Amino acid sequence: MESFEAQLDQLARVAVHVGLGLQEGQELLITAPLEAAPLARKITEHAYRAGSPLVTVLYDDDAAHLLRFQHAPESAFDKTPQWLFDGMAAAFQSGAARLHIAGSDPNLLRGQHPERVARANRARSLAYRPVLELITSHHINWSIVAYPHPAWARTVFPGLAEQEAVQKLWEAIWKASRLDTPDPVATWQAHNQRLTERVAYLNQKRYRALHFKGPGTDLVVGLADDHLWAGGAVQAKNGVVCNPNIPTEEVFTAPHKDRIEGRVRSTKPLSYQGSLLEEIEVRFEKGRVVEAKAKSGSEVLERILQTDEGARSLGEVALVPHSSPIAQSGILFYNTLFDENAASHIALGQAYSECIQGGSRLSPEALAARGANSSLIHIDWMIGSSEIDVDGISASGQSEPLMRGGEWV
Ligand code: ZN
Ligand code: ZN
Repeated sequence: MESFEAQLDQLARVAVHVGLGLQEGQELLITAPLEAAPLARKITEHAYRAGSPLVTVLYDDDAAHLLRFQHAPESAFDKTPQWLFDGMAAAFQSGAARLHIAGSDPNLLRGQHPERVARANRARSLAYRPVLELITSHHINWSIVAYPHPAWARTVFPGLAEQEAVQKLWEAIWKASRLDTPDPVATWQAHNQRLTERVAYLNQKRYRALHFKGPGTDLVVGLADDHLWAGGAVQAKNGVVCNPNIPTEEVFTAPHKDRIEGRVRSTKPLSYQGSLLEEIEVRFEKGRVVEAKAKSGSEVLERILQTDEGARSLGEVALVPHSSPIAQSGILFYNTLFDENAASHIALGQAYSECIQGGSRLSPEALAARGANSSLIHIDWMIGSSEIDVDGISASGQSEPLMRGGEWV
């Protein structure tokens, strides 16, 4: 294995040239946990070498965040730094690219008062919405990569000493991000090509619905009218081709918010803003969750569902083969960037307008008329495994096998 320094350099190179496709003269805004400073600095270096005139790094401090829940007055939890999010939106409006370094303590808020956590999340989601819209509508090129935060590593490898756990997580990130090849940039081009072919196949099929079957799951997910599949590289509105997620293995589209029926059971725990939700089971009727439970985190699940009207329906359905390197690693990462690429999944909440034909130019009403869901939240959870079969249902109601035992047919 190469030295840590060389690996860091390789990941930074892929982040800037594959993830962002950063352009000469383009500003960059990086958000990162404090612990990821070594990677943030490497990315900053590659960004300047690619001709960026200004890289701004905003660090997030878990410890300071926790102090708020321990010591702030009860009235504090509806407050949020609106000015900061306004500034981020202004940066993206004026053309800055966005890079986020994922990897924080998945259990940071465990044990904190769920109502305070919910209030803080809701206030933040509301204030952040204009920023999120610029990102999800691909107003600019953006990307997310990961760094092994020590508390994250301890959660993933609880039996190991911290240093060893960090090293193991770093190796897992390295492999999952397809960096363990002689030329990762070329590897990513080939991987994007395969995802593009899969997307083209599904788009030409025009399925009316997908049918998931397996232990605890019998779910029909109707697809939005004029839905489009997406996956891999994306051309942003500024013309730049970027890879929003590193790693990525999924192809995904928009469900029809009123046409989801049946039961579904999660196949992996969901780590959501410091809480862990295990063995989620929900039942849908006419597109809405009408029954929900979870072995752990059921209170958090209930609050998620109460966020708004759209939180009870789905904004995404994604297919991922069980043979993906992340699934094959057998590691539960407690992080959506990785875990969603280990298994087919669905997301409660907001749909991506890119998943509707001409979606970026449609009004919210027009998107809703096609079945695209709208919500403050977008929370992916895993429903795929080697035991799950998926059928595509054609416009005429014919079923055809898409996945068997978690693999593409
Ligand atoms: Zn997804
Ligand atoms: Zn998602």
